[in-house]
Amino acid sequence: MTDPKWKKSLISGYQSFRAGAYTKQKDLYEELGTQGQSPDVLVIACVDSRVSPSTIFGAHPGEIFVLRNVANIVPPYDPRAGYHGTSAAIEFAVSNMKVSAIMVMGHESCGGVNAFLSSLDEEPAKDGEHSFLGSWIQILDAAHKRFMASNTPQADQQKLMEYAGVRQSMLNLMSFPFVEKAVLAGDLSLQGAYFSIIEGRLLFANEDGVFAEVPSE
Ligand SMILES: [Zn+2]
Repeated sequence: MTDPKWKKSLISGYQSFRAGAYTKQKDLYEELGTQGQSPDVLVIACVDSRVSPSTIFGAHPGEIFVLRNVANIVPPYDPRAGYHGTSAAIEFAVSNMKVSAIMVMGHESCGGVNAFLSSLDEEPAKDGEHSFLGSWIQILDAAHKRFMASNTPQADQQKLMEYAGVRQSMLNLMSFPFVEKAVLAGDLSLQGAYFSIIEGRLLFANEDGVFAEVPSE
């Protein structure tokens, strides 16, 4: 039986990695593997296949700690029992690895944001119809309420919601006591970012949450 296409493609990619990037950085891999990692920044990005932080930032192994979930959402601090994968990764990055910065990077044409906007017109789920995706993207509701209250023009609602989602995640980060403490102590900074897929451009949010393009050269 022949391997399916996805498997052939992954194996071929792995072989290119072994012959190229791995061979060039063999010593670095060995050092990181034996001595451990100490990345300086946590990047929170979407699971979307087009927005790999390592690719966009040309990061070498060990350089950035990456957390990816649907729509690059940081949930509000919630110490109740539950499977808080995103919150656990943030805690690990801040409290154990003591990163200097957390960047939340949203992106153009986000399927998670689109699903949230579509859900506004849908009937609420019936009893017994649980959707993990549905409950997760509802975290964006706070961003949507702030966005609707801001009187921003309604054109390009998807993009404006993508920006608003990043701003909300930044606010939610500050609801984690260990994040707030590190920020107030000057040990941690927070940065909002946005990747425009079609043009391959990166934008950073300023202190007022306004996004502006980062020089590309
Ligand atoms: Zn996305």
